[in-house]
Amino acid sequence: MSKGVLFVISGPSGTGKGTVCKELLANDDNNLFLSISSTTREKRAGETEGETYNYTTADKFKSMIENNEMLEYAVYSGNYYGTPKKTVEKMLAEGRNVILEIEPQGALKVKSILPDAVLIFIIPPSMAELKKRLVERNRETDEQIAARLEAAKWEMEQAQKYNCIVVNDELDACVGEIEEIMRGNVQKRAMVDKLLHEKY
Ligand code: 5GP
Repeated sequence: MSKGVLFVISGPSGTGKGTVCKELLANDDNNLFLSISSTTREKRAGETEGETYNYTTADKFKSMIENNEMLEYAVYSGNYYGTPKKTVEKMLAEGRNVILEIEPQGALKVKSILPDAVLIFIIPPSMAELKKRLVERNRETDEQIAARLEAAKWEMEQAQKYNCIVVNDELDACVGEIEEIMRGNVQKRAMVDKLLHEKY
């Protein structure tokens, strides 16, 4: 069985990457598994432990780092966020494609450890639209929104280091474009695997 492909999706807070990932996961043809991150940030209304994140304390998070249990981690807006290694490795070994929805510090770390990972960066149609989406979703305080917009500037600068950049102007079009990227890579990979096993 060939190994699955690791897809890393990033984009500034408010770009809609959560919704994009939900749509990608809803399509069984994509054979996707979403990695659930651990975080020290507070659980928000509407979020579910074990589904949105595994919520933990800074002490527990630090001990996971020390025990080499994290594939990557980063500090974002004062909180730790990280990808537990074990499940990702298991799913990839079982041939599932895995999505990490993570910010760029972590994404670039993943690329340095696993160069075959496909990094996809989602950008908003404009910074004004990004601000509008953050304000309208009404999840963060004004101060938190300002911090996220500030972080967005640095994050957008990292987009050039990704394998692909996709604009989320219209949801279906954005999801379709990412599915094309995913299929392209899976097909190419299957082709390479086939050629490698061919006798000549
Ligand atoms: P939020 O607080 O909005 O849920 O997430 C804040 C940022 O952290 C988002 O950009 C999200 O993609 C990122 N993030 C979520 N999980 C992880 C993770 O495991 N590792 C890293 N590096 N970033 C993460």
